Amino acid sequence: MQVSERVKGIAASQSLAMAARAKAMKAAGVDVISMSLGEPDMDTPEHIRRAAQEAIDKGWTHYGPVAGVPSLREAIACSQNSHLRLDIGHLTFEASDVIVSVGAKMAIYNAIQTVVNPGDEVVIPMPSWVSYTEMVKVAGGKVVAIQTKYENRYCLTADELRAALTEKTRMLILCSPNNPTGSIYSYEELKALVEVLREFPQVTVLSDEIYDALIYEGTACSLAEFEELAERLIIVNGVSKAYAMTGWRIGWLMSKNKAFIEACTRLQGQQVTCATMVAQKAAEAALTGSQDCVEAMRQVFAERRELICRLAAEIPGWKFEKPQGAFYLFPNISTLFGKFEIGDCKLVIDNADALAEYLLEEAHVAVVSGSAFGCPDCIRLSYAISTEEIIEAMRRIKRAIENLK
Ligand code: PLP
Repeated sequence: MQVSERVKGIAASQSLAMAARAKAMKAAGVDVISMSLGEPDMDTPEHIRRAAQEAIDKGWTHYGPVAGVPSLREAIACSQNSHLRLDIGHLTFEASDVIVSVGAKMAIYNAIQTVVNPGDEVVIPMPSWVSYTEMVKVAGGKVVAIQTKYENRYCLTADELRAALTEKTRMLILCSPNNPTGSIYSYEELKALVEVLREFPQVTVLSDEIYDALIYEGTACSLAEFEELAERLIIVNGVSKAYAMTGWRIGWLMSKNKAFIEACTRLQGQQVTCATMVAQKAAEAALTGSQDCVEAMRQVFAERRELICRLAAEIPGWKFEKPQGAFYLFPNISTLFGKFEIGDCKLVIDNADALAEYLLEEAHVAVVSGSAFGCPDCIRLSYAISTEEIIEAMRRIKRAIENLK
């Protein structure tokens, strides 16, 4: 059977591939610790699970409105508005500005499909989440990757943005708090980018804010705090990370641009009809119920972050900044690259792929190579695993790296 050129060009997700390899090794009896997946290890809180059970019993089992259950869209708009600082001008969202999708992943995919024409340029600061690039390619867009700098916490600067924008640019994709770096753009950093964007009114900004509940230092700033972007801003968020609801597959996008919302809703109507109704009712319970569960999980991640940073500081050759948000550590490991002899075995480790491979085979710890995120000098470790696993994984990694001589 033919496979379309469009789909032939898509790379498989390296983080999912690494997680699958770790799982297969585990199934074969190898004691592997996986630090490869980006999902909270906690269970979905009980009141949310109960809401889903009630939704089944009450018959929320039919097709629903394409853009989502009205009460959930209302809850999403309220939740977004309540996170914004009131002392400065900002956008105010209404239920009609929201489209609920099958995870933030589909919201992003649909936003790109709705905005980007073949040949359009889409600017993505690297390192970045694995899927943006592939999604742009499927839409026929041209990815313009900007290599950001370690010294800037891998945040895009105004000068870097200006140098990348052309009259062909149609979209800029930003992610804060960031996967894989854990960095958060400050209000001032975003303001400097918005000032550059003034000169390029044809550029839509897609702001992925899926980790905005998981912050350990400073405050998250939403691009919704910049009223001047009103007509060309798409904000993406979801319940996966904040409420430990990855498998429920509920995410959304928000925009004040009515024509975009209308077009994107039309696309979704021909694609999935609507997100799963029972899961939408669970997401509604998550947003409208007590937020104590979010804070409790945030505190658990905050403690693990302290722990992993303390242990990582003892590993030779690792250079990293403490992540400000999300649940990833993204050390630069390039000073370790070289040729090694371990017993009779000769080893060449000259990029992050080779180091990730070595750590899996030698230490039985699965991490994701930075090349998956456009940064082959780094590796990504997820600390969404138990304290005991973090301690054991870091002990094994340290020993394996000390053996590189
Ligand atoms: N955006 C980023 C930066 C992510 O890391 C992820 C998941 O890993 C997503 C979006 C997708 O989230 P969802 O589970 O809502 O599809």
